[in-house]
Order: sequence, then structure tokens, then C-alpha cells
Amino acid sequence: MYRSLMSICLTAFLFLAGCGLDTVRNDSAPIRADVSFFAMDTYISMTAYGKGSNQALREAQDLIVDAERRLSVTDPQSEVYRLNHRSASAGKVSDDTAALLRFSLTMAKDTDGALDPAIYPVLTAWGFTTDRHEIPSQDKLDALLPLVDFHQISLDGNQVTLKPGMELDFGAVAKGYTGQEATDLLRRRGIASAILSLGGNVETIGGKSDGSPWRVALQSPWGKGYLGILSIKDLAVVTSGSYERFFVGADGNTYHHIIDPKTGYPARNGLVSVTIIARDGGIADALSTALFVMGPEKAFSFWQARRDFDMILLTENQELFITAPIRDRFQLDEAFQSLKVTVLS
Ligand code: AMP
Ligand code: MG
Repeated sequence: MYRSLMSICLTAFLFLAGCGLDTVRNDSAPIRADVSFFAMDTYISMTAYGKGSNQALREAQDLIVDAERRLSVTDPQSEVYRLNHRSASAGKVSDDTAALLRFSLTMAKDTDGALDPAIYPVLTAWGFTTDRHEIPSQDKLDALLPLVDFHQISLDGNQVTLKPGMELDFGAVAKGYTGQEATDLLRRRGIASAILSLGGNVETIGGKSDGSPWRVALQSPWGKGYLGILSIKDLAVVTSGSYERFFVGADGNTYHHIIDPKTGYPARNGLVSVTIIARDGGIADALSTALFVMGPEKAFSFWQARRDFDMILLTENQELFITAPIRDRFQLDEAFQSLKVTVLS
């Protein structure tokens, strides 16, 4: 799964982290460590404060690099690649990959299949996996859609069984889920202040070292800088947007990478981006994709039924919907004061 360097700016935190791993200490400043690197097809940066932060970030980096090795759809050595290119119907995966698949299946069920880890054959038909984009014929989609069905994935311990032709893709959840694992590891190492950004999936521990909230900037789908700033502590912020990866087809229409598993077509329901704010980064990532597929009305009912996360929805006609609990923690940028804002409660 290719992501351009544009995704670096997807959701940025307003905090300058240096490149490479280093620990800074002087008499007045707290201990701080930074690391930035490229993995999981994206730019990753992490900053942590406190004793042991240097070593803890090294371990977090190793965890992320290991996840990439297991989950890549393009690396012939990865577990997912080997599963997708299997000769038999079943294959064994590691504990970590089995846990991610189990999580994905739960989220697929909870979202009534709006998220489906078996989406890969349809993504390939659109060329999103090779960057040789094309509009697939309806016949081709009709032939592939029966393979996009998470109910047909069987997971027994570490044994994964798939129907012939089925292929998995964790692109919708891997960064948020792995970011959460890295965050959990930092917490276990005693880190009480940190911010991680995996290609725009931002996860935070506590607030800044001075106790104030982290300030996370949301990218505007319409250019003109940032849409606004979220002030958060101990939360993850994940955005899915149709502007992240798309191509213009031979028919002149724009086709993006978030696919409705029911139709095989890019979800088209008036949304341009969905930002989820939640305690768990894996859930935030899964829901950002799933609620984008659902569209604004279903996303609202889904939120009303659960209320264990918050969201910011942006529509093509420049409306912004924000759930009430997060309203006071979001500040729109000057450039977007004319947006119509509706608070959902
Ligand atoms: P995200 O940026 O988190 O919304 O994830 C988008 C990526 O998830 C796409 O590039 C695909 O790899 C994959 N994907 C697209 N549509 C779906 C879907 N309905 N369910 C699961 N994965 C999807
Ligand atoms: Mg996602």
C-alpha cells in the first residue's frame, strides 16, 4: 500500500520533534527523546518525556518495524503476503497478527461490514495496490465482491482459513492498532507524557511535559493550511479522507481509496473526511474508515448508540459536524470560520 509523502501532513501535531533519536537534558528542561523514521509506508515521529524515554522509544520503534514486517501486503516475507499468496486454504500466523485479525473481525461485525479486512481484491481491481489505477468493469466487480466478506474468514487460534481467491488488507487499521501497541508499551515503561504520529494517526500519553494538553492540527481537505486544532490528553486522533489517495478516471471523475464493501465502489455519500477521537488508536483507525463508508447519517446513529468516541465529519458542501463532548476542545482556524458547524448530541 503506497502512501505519498503528502500523508506526512495529514494530521500533524503542533510540536517540533527533531529527526533521529536523541535525548536532551539541561538544568531546566525535562528529559525528552525524539525519533522519526519511515515505516508502514509512512512517516512516523514519536516524542516522549521522562526518565527512560530514550530506551522506551527505541523499543517502540522496534515494535512498529516488526509490525510492518508482518503486515506488509507487498513484502514477500510478510505474514500477510504469504497468507494472500497461499497455495492451501489455510495458514498459520503469529500471535500478534492473529490478535490484529481478531480485532479487525470484531470491528467488521460492529460496523456491519462497513470495515472489511477482506477488501484487498477490490482494491487491486481499482489499482490502489499497484498505483496502476483504472475503473474496473461492473462484471469484474461482480465477480470479486463475493470474496469481500469477513464472515468467510475463519480464525482458530493462530490458524487463518480463507476461501479461494480471498485476500486480506489491514491498511484501514494497522497504523492505529500498531500505534496503540507502541503507546501501551511506552506506558508500561513508565512514560507519562508522549505523542506519536504514524502517518497522521496521532496517539498521546498524558499531556505535554508542562501538563497542558497536546495540540493536534487537523488537515484541511481544501488546502489553505489547517482546518483547526484539537487540544487533547490521553487520546488518539485518526482521520480518513477521500483526498488522501485518489485518481481521476478516464471518465473524468475522481475515485478515492475508501471502498464501500457492499458496492465495490469508493464510498460516495457527501463526506470528505472523518476524524475519530478515542481512547484506543486501533478503534479510532477502524472507525475512521468504517464511518467514512457509512456516511453522515449512519455515522451519527452509530455514535449515538455507542458514545465511547467522538468525531468530526466534514462534507463536500463545507459543513462540519462535531460531537458535543469534544466541541470545546476544537478550535477552527481563522480561514474556516465561514464553515457551517453543527454540534451533534
Ligand atoms: P484509512 O486511511 O485508515 O481510512 O484506510 C484506508 C485504507 O484501508 C485503504 O487504502 C485500503 O487499504 C483499506 N480500505 C479501503 N476501504 C476499506 C474498507 N471498507 N474496509 C477495510 N479496509 C479498507
Ligand atoms: Mg482507518
